[in-house]
Amino acid sequence: MADTPMVAMRGVQKHFGSLHVLQDIELDVARGEVVVVIGPSGSGKSTLCRTINRLETIDAGEITVDGEPLPAEGKALAQLRADVGMVFQSFNLFAHKTVLENVTLGPIKVRGQSKSDAEARAMELLRRVGVDSQAQKLPAQLSGGQQQRVAIARSLAMEPKVMLFDEPTSALDPEMIKEVLDTMVDLAQGGMTMIVVTHEMGFARTAADRVVFMADGRIVEQNTPHEFFSAPRSDRAKDFLGKIL
Ligand code: ADP
Ligand code: MG
Repeated sequence: MADTPMVAMRGVQKHFGSLHVLQDIELDVARGEVVVVIGPSGSGKSTLCRTINRLETIDAGEITVDGEPLPAEGKALAQLRADVGMVFQSFNLFAHKTVLENVTLGPIKVRGQSKSDAEARAMELLRRVGVDSQAQKLPAQLSGGQQQRVAIARSLAMEPKVMLFDEPTSALDPEMIKEVLDTMVDLAQGGMTMIVVTHEMGFARTAADRVVFMADGRIVEQNTPHEFFSAPRSDRAKDFLGKIL
């Protein structure tokens, strides 16, 4: 249904041993919404992302994607990982495959596309992120910014319902950050549902519908970027913004 949240987290709890890394997480992300997650290092941002495509299991609570509970295993899990695209700080491309092969592999294996369809679509996506001229190269022959844009194209090739970005520009040289952020802004404007963990407050201000601030495994506050940056309510958020702005 159109008004079902694309992602819903209800009472989510996660422990690593004695560490309570996600505490009572309640989060709805609407279709087409762009949510930026910020907070100090160790607050649980990556873990939160990873639970949504089940790279981490949860101890209690419920997560749904497009109204469906997360599958535990098998084909349904592979389908979930295709529906929930994830882009990491380290680009995680297959080093021994060309850029084009990196983008076509998933659609052929998981989505069952023919090689020629997958290649045509991959070239379209590589063009969209501005790296189509690099299609026959190996990842190591590309700059970091180009590799990250290939990683984005690779996720998009699976036609995801939602895209998760976990500090996608943190490993990049400064001059390459903008080209990746521009690609993400373009996606956001195209209506993609996105959850983005980032320290790029410029991106949060321009592209986010909502900022979620986490500390110590909890969502401490959330608001529109304008409200959050101009009038943070909690001491934790004030303290955090004081350090980064
Ligand atoms: P953030 O992304 O906000 O920096 P993380 O979600 O990566 O935070 O980590 C939250 C806390 O959980 C940190 O204290 C981290 O050390 C711990 N942690 C993360 N992954 C694991 C793991 N696989 N095993 C044990 N502890 C972990
Ligand atoms: Mg992290």
